[in-house]
Amino acid sequence: MNLTYELETAKTIARVAAGICQNIQEELVDPSQKDGREPVTIADYASQAIIGNALAENFPDDAVLSEERSEEFMLLLSDRQRALVQRFVTDAVGGYVFEEQVCAWLDFGKQKRAERTWIVDPIDGTKGFLAGRHYCVAIALMIGNEPVLGVLASPGLFCDEPEPPEDLGALTYAQRGSGAYREPLAGGWREPIQVSTVTDPREALLLTSFEPGHTDQDFLVQVNRALGRGPDAPQRGVDSQDKYALVASGMGDMYLRVVPDPRFQEKLWDHAAGYVIVTEAGGRMTDVAGRPIDWTAGPRMVNNRGVVVTNRYLHDIILEAIALAGWAEG
Ligand code: AMP
Ligand code: MG
Repeated sequence: MNLTYELETAKTIARVAAGICQNIQEELVDPSQKDGREPVTIADYASQAIIGNALAENFPDDAVLSEERSEEFMLLLSDRQRALVQRFVTDAVGGYVFEEQVCAWLDFGKQKRAERTWIVDPIDGTKGFLAGRHYCVAIALMIGNEPVLGVLASPGLFCDEPEPPEDLGALTYAQRGSGAYREPLAGGWREPIQVSTVTDPREALLLTSFEPGHTDQDFLVQVNRALGRGPDAPQRGVDSQDKYALVASGMGDMYLRVVPDPRFQEKLWDHAAGYVIVTEAGGRMTDVAGRPIDWTAGPRMVNNRGVVVTNRYLHDIILEAIALAGWAEG
């Protein structure tokens, strides 16, 4: 299946959307107001509208699964906030954009059922976005039962590396059967990426959510213990699907996640793009019971519990440790 056009389009859209998020961050994020969620609201809608616009133009027959809806945009945002979204979208599109148009782009593809579905997180890692840490724009394409193409535009992928490159951002992407690649977010040569070859779980760099509240901490403690990982075992908190980009490029060896609140189910758009990238880079992904992810259950991953992402060498040993710690059921 030739998806070159889809991939190039998704790369461009993700870059543009990430650029809008960066502009909004520069203009609206006030670091002294740690809890001010407004910039996230603006960025969420502006990013999704611009992505909807490009998908509608290029792939009018495809379906879309994404978080935001025009109904809430009209109901929950103030006049001033909607005007801000309109302005950022207008700046990006380069022609005057009416509010009705923003609404149509937000909802593009949502009511449709089609063989091809785009899965979009307009801004993944919103807490990271507000705090100046990791966040990304995530776009995946599912054909039939499986995501086959994934793109992550990450403005701060290298932000906490000891010797970061000049361009802190990266575009990481993959197409099923063609390997995974990374290029500078600002543009430049692509390089193939691969997972690490670490086999000792005690030395493996474990990536988790940066936000402690997004992961069941007992799960982490018990699995670490079952793996024989002491308090000094390498572990790092990273927001968003940047964790997938890091494992895919060997900058992390595994990513474990079980949400603390069982009523909060994992969402497809938090994993689909990362899944294609990490598996094309040689990694493996299952849920905590070792089951493959069911991508067909709708926006919530109701048939799976948690996610286990590894460089593949560590996978079985991690699943065994999870089972030993009693987390593999349910
Ligand atoms: P991460 O930075 O890996 O935790 O991923 C960010 C994603 O976590 C967001 O896109 C949300 O879908 C999801 N999220 C938000 N709140 C929670 C929560 N209370 N527990 C688990 N996940 C959450
Ligand atoms: Mg998200």
